Order: sequence, then structure tokens, then C-alpha cells
Amino acid sequence: MKKRVLSLLLVMLMVVSLVPMSALAATNGHTANEAIGWVQSQVGKALDYDGVYGAQCVDLIKYYYDYLGCASYARGNGSDYATNALPSGWTRLKGAQPRLGDILVYTGGYNNYGHVAIYESDYVSYHQNFNGKQYVVRATCKYNALNNPYWGVIRPDFGGSAPVSAASWEGPSATNITESNAYLSGKVNFSQTMNTTQVGVRIYDSSNTRIALKDEYVNYNTTYVNIWYDVTGELGIYLKSGQNYKFQFYTISNGKEYWSPIISFATAHTHNYASKVVQPTCTAQGYTMHTCSCGNSYKDSYVNALGHSYSGGACTRCGQKDPNYTQTSGVSYVLSDGVLTVSGSGECTNAWMNNYSPNNVKKIVIGSGITSIGRAAFQGCAYVKSVDIANGVTKICRGAFTQCWALESVIIPTSVNTIEMTAFGNAISGSTMNDVYYCGSAAQWGRISIGEHNDSLLKASFHYNYDPNMSFTDVAAGSYCYDAVQWAVANGITKGTDATHFSPNAGCTRGQVVTFLWRAAGEPTVGGNVGFVDVAPGSYCYEAVKWAVANGITNGTDATHFSPNAACTRGQVVTFMYRAEGEPAVGGNVGFVDVAAGSYCYNAVQWAVANGITKGTDATHFSPNATCTRGQVVTFLYRAQ
Ligand SMILES: [Zn+2]
Ligand SMILES: [Zn+2]
Repeated sequence: MKKRVLSLLLVMLMVVSLVPMSALAATNGHTANEAIGWVQSQVGKALDYDGVYGAQCVDLIKYYYDYLGCASYARGNGSDYATNALPSGWTRLKGAQPRLGDILVYTGGYNNYGHVAIYESDYVSYHQNFNGKQYVVRATCKYNALNNPYWGVIRPDFGGSAPVSAASWEGPSATNITESNAYLSGKVNFSQTMNTTQVGVRIYDSSNTRIALKDEYVNYNTTYVNIWYDVTGELGIYLKSGQNYKFQFYTISNGKEYWSPIISFATAHTHNYASKVVQPTCTAQGYTMHTCSCGNSYKDSYVNALGHSYSGGACTRCGQKDPNYTQTSGVSYVLSDGVLTVSGSGECTNAWMNNYSPNNVKKIVIGSGITSIGRAAFQGCAYVKSVDIANGVTKICRGAFTQCWALESVIIPTSVNTIEMTAFGNAISGSTMNDVYYCGSAAQWGRISIGEHNDSLLKASFHYNYDPNMSFTDVAAGSYCYDAVQWAVANGITKGTDATHFSPNAGCTRGQVVTFLWRAAGEPTVGGNVGFVDVAPGSYCYEAVKWAVANGITNGTDATHFSPNAACTRGQVVTFMYRAEGEPAVGGNVGFVDVAAGSYCYNAVQWAVANGITKGTDATHFSPNATCTRGQVVTFLYRAQ
């Protein structure tokens, strides 16, 4: 015995020089793996530490305590280990799942002497005086399935030297990959039984932002752990189509984290292209651009560049100077049917008054070769109502249109950079100017140098980005709706049905008519819902229908339908407009045989006639049930404004 203690002391001294003090204090520097190795080496031996009662279960435990450097704490019978004082750092865990190297404590049996043993795994434990065998045995029954009731464990403080294992991963891998989901699975193998208490996964997107985190608390005593997740089904994550992702599994086994390799995968993706037509310009091809939400795109359906359209020395579309243009001097003036047409090149002047009377001029058209409008060039044209100035004029000189008392509208091109003082002189009895159609933006307008005393110009309504080249082949100049279409396009109330057609004779639907009315009213925003099942949010006429209903302009065709695609009749259109105006009181007779007193549109037609909005389809008919055409609708709106 004396000799044994000496040799143990020698072992302890050797260990002291090899391990940190903290480990030495708890288990004599031994890891749980080493401790189990020692226990395994005792199998078959009869251990009698105290020399009494032969090889008892507690003798194995006393030697075990001795091996771990704290023999003095090993006292009494098996059941006493449920209450014995413990070495510093050791813990007693009642009913706990044991770990490698734990001392199993049982408190029943004969005279309640209890029983103690050493745990390797759920089905491997080491006992002495077990099943009548008075030597150390390796038992393969489950640790808590003995006749003697399991109480719990004493856990030596193996501390940082808790059993660790090499971990080898099979996978993980991502399979069953779709546009929004994947199945992640893998397996970690340990070199020994490990107590795994936690498993989980982390998923990252292509910018390394973590998009999923899952931690699960488990209790496995196994040599391997299978881990699998259905990303959508179990983690609730819908991945994005065509994106790169990474993921990593982990376990916490015997208190240590084991992380898998980081695995990358990409979700499936089918391109879904939205198409956008890019119109050709003078110098660049037009094409159709197809773009997928993933960023992939391609072009096709190329059309040739338009080429410049020169007139009077410059391109009418882009303003490019015509390199072949030879300036011819001289300006000519022709007055015909009240329209004074000014053409040629250079500055126009009041020389025309030598041939014509200003009182006969109703409209002035200044051609594209003209570069400036001279001083007082059109002064005193008291009946002129509109002035169209083509691109090319850079300067409108002092007094050019002064005393044009009746002037209502003027088209000003982007080439103008100077408007001198009194160019549009102030009308003494109040300005009549209603509309300025400017071919550029508000910002461009702001860069024009404008002299003082031009208030009649500046107080008019401005229509920016007016297109003087609007050329719908189906709306000829002189057509009944020409001015109305020009006005409607300039004011954003409607576009053509394509680049070169307005389709004035096409019938209008109810959805289109309320949209035109809504735009003419300035596109006011109205809250709430439309309440019609056939006008979905996002529909082109959704806001317009809301506005129309909120303002009592229309009620829908029944409680739940607006019928946006139903044709709109002439009677309905004037009724909508009349209601939009607030249903002002009207008198007199309509004078149409097909609009009877008491008809739903009687007052509306009365109002429309009284305000010059319609003259009927002939002297005695209004044709209220005829489908209203696009040309008619914009004409009504144009006349009503
Ligand atoms: Zn795509
Ligand atoms: Zn051009």
C-alpha cells in the first residue's frame, strides 16, 4: 500500500509538469477519455481498496477517485454518493443524462445500500459486485434500466479536457433545388460516442447576409448525427430564383461546437422577360429591350434610325443643323383666309403691312427659316388669336406682338432664348392670353431671358413639352378634332393609339372616358377602394374610377360592376362631363328630337349645347345612343375647358 501511494505521488509529480493547474485541481489532469481508458483496463480485476467486504462496487469508485486525484472524497455505501461532499469543481446532477466518465449513482437495492458505477455510453457502463461478480465488469444493459433505481450522476470536472473527437462530415449538400427551395442534408461522424445537445444551420445569401438561423436542442449519445432541413418547409424561407446561397451545419457535442464545411449552391431560374420598345431617334436604331428581373437582358426587333428631317436648315426632330443648307435671304409674307404665313430666312419685320391690313389677320404662322421676330413686327394685329412659331427663331424683339389684344395662344419653340421687353406687351384692358404651348421643359423655359412688361404672356397657362410635330396620319390639319387632339396630347390627357395614329373614329370605353375626364381634372387623388370587382387595383383606370365615383360622376353599371370595357355612348359622355361640372342649372330646350325631356341625359345635353360643347350629329339629332368616338370625347373635353 505504502509503495502504491509513492508510485501514485510520482505519477502526480510528473503530471504536474505537463498540464495546467486548473486541470490538475479537478481530475488530476486526466481527460474523460483517459479516465474511461483507465476503467477499461480494470475489467476482470477484483479491486478491494479498503480491504473489507471484498471487491464492492464502491471499491471501483474509490480507485476511480484515487485515479482522478481525490480519493479522500470516496466514502460510504453506494447510496451515500447521492449526498457525499464533492471535490472542488465536481457536480452532482439528479436524473441527468450521463456523460462519458460520469459516476452513476443508484440509491435502492438491498437495505438501500445503493450502487455506483462508471458511465461510457447509454449501453456501456462499468460495475463491480454486479450480478454476483466480485470483479470489474463491462455491462451492456442500459444505464438506467437496472433493478436498482437510477438516482443521477456525479460529474468529475474534466473542464476544458472534456472528451473531444475528430469530426468528419459527409456532405453536407443541397439537393432537390428549385427556384425557391432546397433540401439541405449531411452527417457528422465522431470517433467515439458523443453527447450532442444542440444542432442547427446557418444560411447566407450572396452578399453574406444571414437569412436563416435554426438551433435545435437535442440529447443524442451517438457516434454520428444526421442533420437535414427543407428550407421552405421547415425554416419557412422562400429562396430567390437564380441566386447563390451558402449554408453551414453545426453540432454542440460534449460541450464543443463542430461546424461543417460551408457549402454553396444556386437556386434554379427560368428567365421571364418584360419587353420595352425603345423608339429610334434621328441617329440611333430603335429596338425592343427584353429584361428579366435577374438582370439578364437582350435586344431584338431593331428598326433603322430615322435620319434627320431637315427643314429650313435644321432637323425638325432634333435641331441638328443641315450641313447642305444654303441660306437664302429674304422673308415672304402671305395672308390667306386670315392666316399670315411667314417663310424664308432671317428676321421677319413689319414690312408685310405694306401689303396687308393687320385687322385681317386671325392667325400668324412663322416658318422654320425665320431666326428672329423683329421689333413691332406684328404690333396692332388686334384680331389675331393664335401665333405658331417654328423652331429656329431665337429672339422675339421688343413690341413684336404688343397690342395684339385678342391673342389667346402662342406656340414657342425651344430655339427661343430671348424675349425682349413688351414683346407680348400688356393689354390695357386685361390680358386675353390663355395658353402658352412651350416645346421645352419648365427648366428650359426658365433659362430664357425675358424682359419686363410681358405679364400677359407670363400669366397664361403653360403647357410644357408641346410637340409641334405631332403628326397623327389619321388626324389631318383642318379635321374637326385636330385642335382638340393637339390640346389633349399636350396636356397629357391621352396619347395616340400608336406613334402615328390617334384612331379618332375608334369607340371609347367607359374606362377610357373616366380616365380622360380624370386627367383633364388634374388627376386628383382620392382615398378608399372602388368596390367594383371588374376594376382591379393597378388597372389603368383604377384611380380615375375611384375619383369618378367619389364625385358622383358615375355609379357603375350595377352595385359591383363598373364595366370599364363597355362602350360609352355620347349621352353617357356628356352626362359624365355635366356631373363633373357639378350639374349646373340649365334652361331652354335641347332642340334634338332624339333627346326627350325626362331622358337621363336631357339636362346634360342642354348644358353641353348651351356651352358650345356639342352641336349634335345634325341639326335635329344628338344621337345619344351612338358610341362616342375618341375624336368626339377629346373634342367635348377641349370645348369644355
Ligand atoms: Zn432571369
Ligand atoms: Zn434629327
